[in-house]
Amino acid sequence: STSPTLVLNDDHRIPQLGFGTWQVEPDVAEASVATALETGYRHIDTAAIYGNEEGVGRAIAASGVPREEIFLTTKLWNTDQGYDSALAAFDQSLERLGTDYVDLYLIHWPCPENGLYRDSWEAFRSLRESGRARSIGVSNFPAPLLEELVGTGTVPAVNQIELHPYFPQVELRAANASHGVLTEAWSPLGQGGEVLTDPVVTQIAEEVGATPAQTVLAWHLAIGNIVFPKSVTPDRIRENWGALDIVLDEEQLERLTGLGRENGRLGPNPMELN
Ligand code: NAD
Repeated sequence: STSPTLVLNDDHRIPQLGFGTWQVEPDVAEASVATALETGYRHIDTAAIYGNEEGVGRAIAASGVPREEIFLTTKLWNTDQGYDSALAAFDQSLERLGTDYVDLYLIHWPCPENGLYRDSWEAFRSLRESGRARSIGVSNFPAPLLEELVGTGTVPAVNQIELHPYFPQVELRAANASHGVLTEAWSPLGQGGEVLTDPVVTQIAEEVGATPAQTVLAWHLAIGNIVFPKSVTPDRIRENWGALDIVLDEEQLERLTGLGRENGRLGPNPMELN
């Protein structure tokens, strides 16, 4: 099977189901990205801070899949924010990835206290103009900061944010959508924790004949999120790809969205991370 694609606001297409690589060592990243590409995944999410860009690049080069059929995302780390330093960090990422362009380059966190995200965004605009970053976007941007960038006239293609059934981000998804910014969901499985044993999740999984992970991923796909679950286990990499065949009805989608909790966040509050 192949993943559906969504159209970004710059007219490029992105496969909606991709593969995540956080907390994966370079050699393990190489092996798991190879398995993902064999399985059919054509969208890989990495970041400079993950320390595995070389492994990801090696897997892509060795896969036999043409580079232009793969959608590759990497991210600018916080300490490299600023105009010149963002450009230099981008060059280093390309070098490690062994490619001459990325499909999507993201500001990893806004780091509002550093106050450099606007300068970084200027650099991103020039990277997009050069064609070396085909699309540009942000990650972990709350609505007011996203809107500040929208006001520059260069609208991010995506906002990659923590999002899973315990933290469904209904308001930020709507804010993204109102600006034509697609939502990418990080930690879509809640990092493999309590979400996957939640009684509502396991009940719906039983109703549709899917696993809990497939059920949660099917929810993301149905509500329009771009998603890239991480696994280093070949059977789970294939299981997660199987989410493409799972259809949930409106009532099931609402029950899953209804699992949102006040304190459902697993990661840091972006306004407090600098
Ligand atoms: P995730 O929600 O994808 O969960 C991954 C974990 O879930 C695995 O380590 C494993 O323990 C478990 N798992 C995976 N498949 C399973 C299955 N089929 N059955 C049971 N358990 C399963 O968590 P994540 O890695 O945090 O998020 C996905 C990706 O999002 C990352 O790899 C990374 O690419 C990206 N990300 C971005 C940011 C950001 O700040 N932009 C932050 C975190 C993650």
